[in-house]
Amino acid sequence: MLKIQNYINGQLTAPISKQYIDNYDPSTGKVYSLLPDSDELDVSQAVEAAKKAFPAWSMMPKDNRAAILLRISALIDQNLERLAKAESKDNGKPVSLARTVDIPRASSNFHFYATGILHYASHAHSMEDTAINYTLRNPVGVAGCISPWNLPLYLFSWKIAPALAAGNCVVAKPSEITPMTAYLLSELCIEAGLPPGVLNIVHGYGHKVGSAITAHPEIPLISFTGGTKTGAEIARVAAPMFKKLSLELGGKNPNLIFADCDYEAMLSTTMRSSFANQGQICLCGSRILIERSLYEKFKADFVAKTKKMTVGNPADDNTKMGAVVSKQHMEKILSYIELAKQEGGKILCGGERVMLEGGLADGYYIAPTIIEGLPYDCRTNQEEIFGPVVTIMPFDTEADALKYANSTIYGLASTVWTENLTRAHRIASELHTGIVWINCWLLRDLRTPFGGVKSSGVGREGGFEALDFFTEPKNVCIKLK
Ligand code: NAD
Repeated sequence: MLKIQNYINGQLTAPISKQYIDNYDPSTGKVYSLLPDSDELDVSQAVEAAKKAFPAWSMMPKDNRAAILLRISALIDQNLERLAKAESKDNGKPVSLARTVDIPRASSNFHFYATGILHYASHAHSMEDTAINYTLRNPVGVAGCISPWNLPLYLFSWKIAPALAAGNCVVAKPSEITPMTAYLLSELCIEAGLPPGVLNIVHGYGHKVGSAITAHPEIPLISFTGGTKTGAEIARVAAPMFKKLSLELGGKNPNLIFADCDYEAMLSTTMRSSFANQGQICLCGSRILIERSLYEKFKADFVAKTKKMTVGNPADDNTKMGAVVSKQHMEKILSYIELAKQEGGKILCGGERVMLEGGLADGYYIAPTIIEGLPYDCRTNQEEIFGPVVTIMPFDTEADALKYANSTIYGLASTVWTENLTRAHRIASELHTGIVWINCWLLRDLRTPFGGVKSSGVGREGGFEALDFFTEPKNVCIKLK
């Protein structure tokens, strides 16, 4: 059985403990590879390697750093099919999604920051004829990057690429639930000629590897994407050490649908925003609020379309809905469906595990689920489920829609469907979310600030915001007379 290895100091290495963790294929429920059960000793080795590599990497001319990152991007492109299949097997997502979204975006992340760093400039502040200040933007040293399982290579590279482009060395940890493409990336980094120690990938559990990265005194910066509870734990450990933190956390995103919307565009996009990646995208809209005059029509069409979605083998090119990521996560989602029933919700479709046949019989499949009849402030409508489960709710006025939308502890993204331009702008300014999509969803420009407010996170990724985060500004003031 394939043993995934750590990538430390340019070498693929076994964990010091020699212990491994089972890695499951969610489509079959079977173990298909093993990953290192690393601990703080492996993290220490990775930090030493990163520290050793830092002077040369940070002083390397930007063009040369960029050229190496562009080679990694090109190698991802050349290996698109292999990586897409690996991502699908590791995560349960349809291979067509991995092929068109996850892996191309991982390549774009490297390409974007390899070229972005060449255009990144710092400021100067003139004090007329008294003095001039200029800002140096230096890499911080060793950056810690910790990522989740839902978009494995996509989110892993979203952190690593800007960190490396800015001249940092990195100790990174992918999710233990989806380690495969990070491992394949380490092979590509070797092939691309990334100098040893510049990027180190340590596999293993969050409470061992993740917490060792967070607590390591020589990692002054942590970039984390994952659950809100984990983010709070990381902040608790990192804050007294005064580490720089970027936390991209959970969400409970609202879709606000007004009766005057472009109905067909809204309906087809709402299918995607509800169920893409089995609803396991932090940006998925899981609370769908519909103006009352449109409610019954929307409900009928949405349920009819959803009932036609078939759950199938993620490896099949035609599958649109694959497996959820793990048994534990499947059980969590099913328990939320039970909670919704207890809270008085009516299951309009789905609501259960799907049992496929043959080799897929033990896979983790859930039917796309729509629930109605719940108040906006019940637990089902307040807590993150992170699966193919949405609620639908009517609203009467714009004020009600905003009240429901803004009622959770989260504030990551929201979607508004209306043809009324002034209303669109008005609502966009009043939604408490870091991202607002008007008449679209998941339309991404990598230059824009990405992140959430309230319990959805602290800080922004994307564009120059990420390069600001991965560098430390230093003001130099020169007196002129
Ligand atoms: P998680 O918090 O369980 O794990 C994320 C990562 O943190 C994993 O690599 C894990 O091993 C590690 N980790 C766990 N405990 C740790 C600890 N004590 N110290 C340091 N690291 C630790 O999240 P998950 O279940 O992998 O991902 C799903 C969550 O991620 C959802 O809440 C989702 O909304 C969120 N998410 C947010 C965004 C965003 O951009 N805001 C994007 C994707 C996913």
